Amino acid sequence: MAQKKKFIIGNWKMNPESTRLATGIFKSIQKGTADLSKIHTVICPPYVYLEALARLQTSTKGTQKKQKGKKKVAAQPEPVVLGAQNLNPEPLGARTGEISGEFLKQFNVKYVIIGHSERRDLGETDAVVNTKILAALGWKFKTILCIGEKVRDDDGHYFAFIKNQLEQALMGVKKEQLSSLVIAYEPVWTIGATAAMTPPLVHEMTIFIRKTLFDMYKTRTLSTPILYGGSVDPSNAQEILQQGSADGLLIGRQSLDPAGFVSIATIANTLS
Ligand code: PEP
Repeated sequence: MAQKKKFIIGNWKMNPESTRLATGIFKSIQKGTADLSKIHTVICPPYVYLEALARLQTSTKGTQKKQKGKKKVAAQPEPVVLGAQNLNPEPLGARTGEISGEFLKQFNVKYVIIGHSERRDLGETDAVVNTKILAALGWKFKTILCIGEKVRDDDGHYFAFIKNQLEQALMGVKKEQLSSLVIAYEPVWTIGATAAMTPPLVHEMTIFIRKTLFDMYKTRTLSTPILYGGSVDPSNAQEILQQGSADGLLIGRQSLDPAGFVSIATIANTLS
């Protein structure tokens, strides 16, 4: 069976400080990943940079068309795709300061992060996360659901916590929609930290999340990728992907450093 492409997703959060810097980083990432055919590369910048970055995107439609009808198609490099860090579930209306998924579509946004721990810290509840997940899937975004425990206890209560987060966030999500969903497991205690979670613990949680989804959806074929996020860098990416059995990585700080991000992407490309 062909290996699935790994997801290398950068979350720029509230960075960098200017459009000039944002376009510079994006161009370097585009250049550095241009020949990598075995990964999906996604960058989620602040909303205000989407328009400028969308203009830098190139289209591969021509190449894709030519391949139609062929029996066996070798994996092709894909352009860097844009994602958003959040959305408002309403299409339009009296929501001061909010951004609707309708707007994001205009800037060629294909992915949306929902339920990042930094947004949950701002008061986003499981119910709000659920509403946003349903809206994002309804708009046909590839929807990245972030889950993760704040602390680890010795009795393994974090397993129940993760299960509950999944059940709450995915209420009303249909089995057919699972292929548009990406789960990003981000233990909050590893975000912005000095070390990532160890690969065996990532592996344990990847299996747990997969099993929870199997139980929820009563399916044996699960198309939902399960990513890891939290202090990923070029020194730990390979082990997390291999030993941790992660289908990809959600990357914060290192996604603002083109050299580091490209190096992680290159590692992932050799493993897929
Ligand atoms: C994140 O905030 O999603 C994240 C993974 O951050 P970092 O890589 O900087 O730990």
